[in-house]
Amino acid sequence: MRLSMIKINENFLDLQDNYLFSTIAKKVAKFQEEHPDKKVIKLGIGDVTLPLAKSCVDAMKKAAEELLYKESFRGYGPEQGYDFLKEKIIKYDYKSRGIDLDLDEIFISDGAKCDTGNIVDIFAKGNKVAITDPVYPVYLDTNTMSGRAGKYNESTGRYSNIIYMPCTSENNFEPQFPDEAPDIIYLCFPNNPTGTVCTKEQLAKWVKYAKDNKSIILYDCAYECFITEENIPHSIYEIEGAKDVAIEFKSYSKTAGFTGVRCGYVVVPKKVYGYTEKSEKVSINKLWNRRQCTKFNGVSYVTQRAAEAIYSEEGQKEIKENIKYYQENAKIIRNGLQESGFLVYGGVNAPYIWLKLPDGVKSWDFFDELLNNIGIVGTPGVGFGPCGEGYFRLTAFGSRENTEEAMKKIKEYFIRESKV
Ligand code: PLP
Repeated sequence: MRLSMIKINENFLDLQDNYLFSTIAKKVAKFQEEHPDKKVIKLGIGDVTLPLAKSCVDAMKKAAEELLYKESFRGYGPEQGYDFLKEKIIKYDYKSRGIDLDLDEIFISDGAKCDTGNIVDIFAKGNKVAITDPVYPVYLDTNTMSGRAGKYNESTGRYSNIIYMPCTSENNFEPQFPDEAPDIIYLCFPNNPTGTVCTKEQLAKWVKYAKDNKSIILYDCAYECFITEENIPHSIYEIEGAKDVAIEFKSYSKTAGFTGVRCGYVVVPKKVYGYTEKSEKVSINKLWNRRQCTKFNGVSYVTQRAAEAIYSEEGQKEIKENIKYYQENAKIIRNGLQESGFLVYGGVNAPYIWLKLPDGVKSWDFFDELLNNIGIVGTPGVGFGPCGEGYFRLTAFGSRENTEEAMKKIKEYFIRESKV
């Protein structure tokens, strides 16, 4: 018998169990069991609810049909994605905003969760990582898995090696430059969970900061399609010099209801460089390409044809109708909460509404109060990081009917109780 034994990646033991959504589910199930006659409205969901655009479904059917015949069958495709989709991305998502990109700077993927999670593969363990607080948890957990987070401190709710950039109403949800310059900076705008955005001027400061410090910005704009206001960048490459320092993550999940179909892409400009221990410059684009070719075999042909259909005239019309529906929900939620006396953030350029609770009210207490008194489910802000304490997230992805009913109940309850 050998004396050695299989060892695990112990970084995984440093992960904190994220009980957020399972705790919510348990509390909701208990409430429903105890009150089978009461309606529960879920406004905590981050998933879309409207069906896929017909143009996308038609394109999938046609692509599936092609696979039936020897002449048009497709096997393995390019790991980086088919040119027919990359060409559309370049033309409609970038060229139309004055941004030039080459085909080999785009990598089609099965969504932004995988891309934002997998990107850590190509960076050294010793890099210092900065994230906002609150944050989309994938950035933190994937860096913990790869050994970059350090030790978790129960009392602060923070890891020793991560640089946290608090985003609260006090700083208008604008991350500030940290005292210690990070190597990797995660920025997500429009933001999940706060629904807030940053202006071109604010983003330009980050691009300059990254250049000055030889850092890289990982820019997640999965919610870009919800932007309604002027002067809010739809891509970080609208900022001069960003092609030297930024990788951009995009997703069709919320843009076109692809949460289940799975497709997105990442832009890695060829001018973005990292460095070896000996300070030699290495192309990040080449590293990512190598990583993808080794670990990924591309997105299915059928899915990429569906994504291509988003850019057709009819496809654009259909997805914009859906986005408008969610935007209208967001407006209804914002107005309803404001009329109830709450301070409300987000919801103008994002499907997320972030409400500030009255002083001293904790996120989970507010969750219980909403559920137990009026049967409405949201997400406690503290689940996204310590600075989310005292906040609460509602989403615009519910049905119109439920959204209106929920706001009516909230207004009645809080105005009657004069609670805010
Ligand atoms: N990035 C952010 C900020 C998100 O909120 C989400 C999904 O909720 C994703 C990425 C994941 O998107 P995808 O469905 O493309 O994996």
